Amino acid sequence: MTATIISGKDLAIQKRQELANEVKLLKQKGITPKLVIILVGDDPASLSYIKGKQKASVETGVEFKLEHLKESVTENELLQLIDRYNQDPFVDGILVQLPLPKHIDEKAVIEKISPEKDVDGFHPINIGRMMTGQEAFLPCTPAGIVELIKSANIEIAGKHVVVVGRSNIVGKPVGQLLLNEDATVTYCHSKTNNLRSFTKEADILIVAVGKAHFLSADDMKEGAVVIDVGVNRTQSGKLVGDVHFEEAKEKAGFITPVPGGVGPMTITMLVHNTILAAKKRLS
Ligand code: NDP
Repeated sequence: MTATIISGKDLAIQKRQELANEVKLLKQKGITPKLVIILVGDDPASLSYIKGKQKASVETGVEFKLEHLKESVTENELLQLIDRYNQDPFVDGILVQLPLPKHIDEKAVIEKISPEKDVDGFHPINIGRMMTGQEAFLPCTPAGIVELIKSANIEIAGKHVVVVGRSNIVGKPVGQLLLNEDATVTYCHSKTNNLRSFTKEADILIVAVGKAHFLSADDMKEGAVVIDVGVNRTQSGKLVGDVHFEEAKEKAGFITPVPGGVGPMTITMLVHNTILAAKKRLS
């Protein structure tokens, strides 16, 4: 059996077209959605992620601004800058690119962003709203994963979802979103005993560990839906996921590739959230 590939790249193209149409309508009403990304320092991976976010914004007609700050900026200066954008009525979304330098408290920064402009969905208020099933900015990677699963017409309700990884930005929230969709969710992490006994039970297996080829065909059941979140660079410079794709695709029912799976949808959901925030200007 060869798995159906769920292409995040194709879905992102389609979604961005829909988002571009929404922006056109907003512009007719005098609203241009605007996203501000704040980057501290020159981390090459962060710069590359931001490039992708800028491209998706521009493509859909969202105004994009990068605030590129020196590594030496103080926490206080950063908090003041965030506050300025919190007050700016023409800015809809504020994203502080993580990770931050060690001298800056990430939690304080995330909590400084107005929950109404927190398009990354990391603010505790948005996380609480998501947990309780209220309207919220959903974290982009988990929201993108749900879109990917739904795009393949896969039933979620009643399915056993196993999430490997419990980070605040991927593992925990993706499990919560799928619980909200009536899945039965199991979380696994580095202290889980006999990991394979869980992964082999998964109807939908979500892997967000950050280790190249961490799971392979032997770790999953025949026909499973496999969502590979990991992005790892091999010594030869190739990007690979947490799942051994070549092996797994012979056993899974559905699988996302790396690159071209979860990544493009993460960025698309950021633009989606920015447009959602801009729509609030209408009311
Ligand atoms: P974190 O490092 O924050 O979390 C990794 C998780 O994996 C932890 O919960 C950890 O467990 C768990 N883990 C580590 N080793 C094992 C093990 N041996 N067995 C079981 N679980 C283990 O990573 P992120 O969640 O931020 O990211 C995960 C991956 O996804 C990375 O490759 C990242 O680059 C990628 N990513 C991709 C995105 C995209 O858009 N495509 C977006 C965000 C991330 P414990 O909690 O016990 O330490």
